[in-house]
Amino acid sequence: MNIAVCLKQVPHPDYLSKIIYDPTTNRLQRAGVPLIINPVDKNAIETGIQLKEKYSGKIIVITMGPPQAKESLEEALAMGADEAILLCDPAFAGSDTYATAFTLASALKKIGLCDLILCGNETLDSGTSQVGPQIAAFLDIPHVTNVKAINYPEDGLLLVERSLENGYMRIKVRLPALLTVTKEINKPRIPSAIGIMQVAGKPFNTWRLAELNLSPLEVGLAGSPTQTVQIPETEQRHAGDILQGDVTKVVKTAVAKLHELKMI
Ligand SMILES: Cc1cc2nc3c(=O)[nH]c(=O)nc-3n(C[C@H](O)[C@H](O)[C@H](O)COP(=O)(O)OP(=O)(O)OC[C@H]3O[C@@H](n4cnc5c(N)ncnc54)[C@H](O)[C@@H]3O)c2cc1C
Repeated sequence: MNIAVCLKQVPHPDYLSKIIYDPTTNRLQRAGVPLIINPVDKNAIETGIQLKEKYSGKIIVITMGPPQAKESLEEALAMGADEAILLCDPAFAGSDTYATAFTLASALKKIGLCDLILCGNETLDSGTSQVGPQIAAFLDIPHVTNVKAINYPEDGLLLVERSLENGYMRIKVRLPALLTVTKEINKPRIPSAIGIMQVAGKPFNTWRLAELNLSPLEVGLAGSPTQTVQIPETEQRHAGDILQGDVTKVVKTAVAKLHELKMI
């Protein structure tokens, strides 16, 4: 079974407050923020590895991102993926989800259609959950979102369990197909020392706009039908004070505080 896993590099959640919004460009400045593989994308990588271990095949990991996204692809190779492709070109900057999915789908067409394409169900930063289904639409293949279990491949069919709010549904899907997976599906492995040593010997390709044979008008900001107009800031609420100790003193302090705030 040949599997492609799409992964996105995202800012570390502990550093989200360090991301600055630039009102002149309507873009987010992420310089200096540590980056990680989007957590649920590791579950997608693990899903691919487990399927490969059971049914053999090859796993290609692919991301569209800046040059430093190479580190996330290398981590995926260390986990057990076989090959990596970085889609990296200044022309891809400013992509909305449509342009992101279009660029990823163009690369997946160039690779040659895989049996299975795996994505996470959403990212930590933008979290639209649109990219997986959009890739499937560009490739004209079926997709199932929020998959929490894959039971067995059978005559070109996969039996998957799709999470619902109060349960799950069992779905048969014909391959080739795209699945977006949830965190419930597995526990991603930590790369072994041997896995890390093997990274240097595995194929790694960087494809720019020219390699994908696309026009600059089809990608990035130019190829994005949605444009950010403004990101207004919401009022920041800070954690409340917790009063502890003798009840009489705590009540007095609380009443004094409420008077001070002119709330009573
Ligand atoms: C008008 C506009 C302009 C934007 N400009 C920028 C910009 O300048 N810089 C910027 O960083 N972002 C920009 N974004 C955000 C960018 O579009 C999203 O980060 C990107 O499309 C992914 O969307 P998402 O994070 O909601 O992914 P989701 O749909 O929530 O992701 C689901 C899954 O899709 C896969 N996936 C998502 N993105 C990628 C990827 N890049 N490579 C491989 N797999 C992926 C992963 O498996 C992921 O788990 C812009 C968005 C808009 C609307």
